[in-house]
Amino acid sequence: MMEYLPKSARGRASSPREVARQLAVSRRDFLRTAAGVALGGALLSSTIPAKAETSSKKRKVIVVTFGGGARDQETFAPEGQENIPHLMRELIPQSTFFTQVVNRGILGHYVATASLATGVYETINNFASLPPAYPTVFEYFRKDLKRPSSDAWVVAPSNGFNRIGESNNRSYGPGLGARVILPKHLLTAAMGGGSGDYEHLLRDNYETPFFAPELRGGEFELQQLEMILKLSVDDFKAHARTLSSPDELSVYVARQLMRQVAPSLLWITMHDIDVAHAGAYSLYVEGIRRTDRLCAELWETVQSEPEYAGKTTLFILPDFGRDSDEDSAGNGFQHHRTGDPLSRTTWMMAMGAGVREGVVFDRAAESTDLVPTLGAMLGFSPSLAQGKPIQELL
Ligand SMILES: [Zn+2]
Repeated sequence: MMEYLPKSARGRASSPREVARQLAVSRRDFLRTAAGVALGGALLSSTIPAKAETSSKKRKVIVVTFGGGARDQETFAPEGQENIPHLMRELIPQSTFFTQVVNRGILGHYVATASLATGVYETINNFASLPPAYPTVFEYFRKDLKRPSSDAWVVAPSNGFNRIGESNNRSYGPGLGARVILPKHLLTAAMGGGSGDYEHLLRDNYETPFFAPELRGGEFELQQLEMILKLSVDDFKAHARTLSSPDELSVYVARQLMRQVAPSLLWITMHDIDVAHAGAYSLYVEGIRRTDRLCAELWETVQSEPEYAGKTTLFILPDFGRDSDEDSAGNGFQHHRTGDPLSRTTWMMAMGAGVREGVVFDRAAESTDLVPTLGAMLGFSPSLAQGKPIQELL
């Protein structure tokens, strides 16, 4: 397998910062040659117009975590690009792309996603059912802008994410967060207990057998299904039979939510790629291909839904990466345990309302910059977030 860092960066003692910079530069080069995007710096002050201005009142934002962690050699590098045809050919040419988004926090999926959602590197136990310690983007959004609970939603395929919607911060917290929908709970409720034909949609938490949140699903979930998503149990079960994975189930639920509720702030966490922990390379790559396709399908839904078309900004970013083949402390693609710069140096793309198309920036940004950026876009003040607004998107 080809290593994707430039030769010049290999085999010499580089600082983590230097490795991250090299990675960003090579990522930019891959994108420029394959997707035909321009380097951003010089264009900032030039004449590339933002799309039609959308007032922050009407603007909608969807955040998708390209979840589970994928490496460049299976994605942006020349030998990986066949796995992400939709990103490369459709989405990246329409987006502003950041090649160096560094995650300096804990590399566990729940705690990293909570950090993305709070703008603070959270230190909560990754494998416990705990709320984030700092206010989430949903709380800032709802409190500052006086939005109802129906306007902020999270769709989370991992059962351990049921507390992601709201923190236990005293000035925010209870009653101000996002509503969280767990598609596997919906499905369990719809099945009334047994798992029958749906085992493949209920797989959860690929990382540790010791943390297996209980699959619940009862009256509350049946109400979500029928009252909010306007799906009958039978229709839902019949459709679920056609789906191939938990993320596919999540996207189905998210699209239904967009049609029926049309929240202004929608957050979807993907998780299929994390099947890599099981050690099967082919399943990991299949997860990447599916996530690539699902991102494009979501963007299509944005275009086809009147509530979203023309006024939605879509963000896609991973929670973090995976270990390189060359770090002897890890086992290559399988895990994200070494904390090396490659598993920390991720990326982010933004597209849609108010965002320049086909531009790449490779200056360093951080995972904690997302929430302040959303605050600046939508007009709320994430006062406890640590990151900085990304000026290139404002
Ligand atoms: Zn993982």
